[in-house]
Amino acid sequence: MTPLTGPACLRCGDTLDPRSLNSSKTQCRACRLAPPAFVRAASFGPFDGRIRDAIHALKYGGLQPAARRLGEKLAIAIASLANHAPAEMLVVPVPLHRSRHRTRGFNQTRLLAEQALKSLAKSHPDWKLELSPHALLRIKSTNSQAGLSRRERRLNLRKAFAVADATAIAGRDILLIDDILTTGATVRAASRVLVEAGANSVWVATLARAGRLIHHASSAGASFDASITAHSRPQPFTAAHGMQATQHQPSF
Ligand SMILES: [Zn+2]
Repeated sequence: MTPLTGPACLRCGDTLDPRSLNSSKTQCRACRLAPPAFVRAASFGPFDGRIRDAIHALKYGGLQPAARRLGEKLAIAIASLANHAPAEMLVVPVPLHRSRHRTRGFNQTRLLAEQALKSLAKSHPDWKLELSPHALLRIKSTNSQAGLSRRERRLNLRKAFAVADATAIAGRDILLIDDILTTGATVRAASRVLVEAGANSVWVATLARAGRLIHHASSAGASFDASITAHSRPQPFTAAHGMQATQHQPSF
């Protein structure tokens, strides 16, 4: 897979607009204008090529063995948060609505989280990550987000999530897991609900990210100077991907 390259938002990990490269801005426009409830989001790599095929196979083909290999990649994204996030966190996979769960038979994000935690238990035995797959509920069935604008996704997700038991969340540091981060609307909505329920902090790790520039380039037919993406990231801890995350061995 192709690693994410180019300067990234310190908050959500999105690729920074090339037009702001010469400024001192370290967060993308979306995070500056409407700061998310999460502290930081990390992803393993872009949603393309083999990752896309494997996620599709997992979600729509029910190929659960793919979860193990993908879970190891998710573990790398989570490990990149280690120098920043608390050493003890409640791990909350983004849930499916029960109707979707019934159709698919499983929540692929929960499978990824389980596999990632197995991997992290070996690589980072001192890190206390406890899976809490029922802490968050999806109380509104949202239609597929594909093809929707950022605003439409946000409206679609409003009131989609609820906390099952606020006493389980209150005062806890939460690691929210999702498979793909596109506009960030899903993790923004889920993070807000968790913070409103009293979470001390929310951190986000996703397996793959469909970057905004990739989104623009494909949806609007816009082209941008590809050489900009050849620069290495100034902050290796943002939006971790495989190569940087392995070079940057966190200790905690
Ligand atoms: Zn951002």
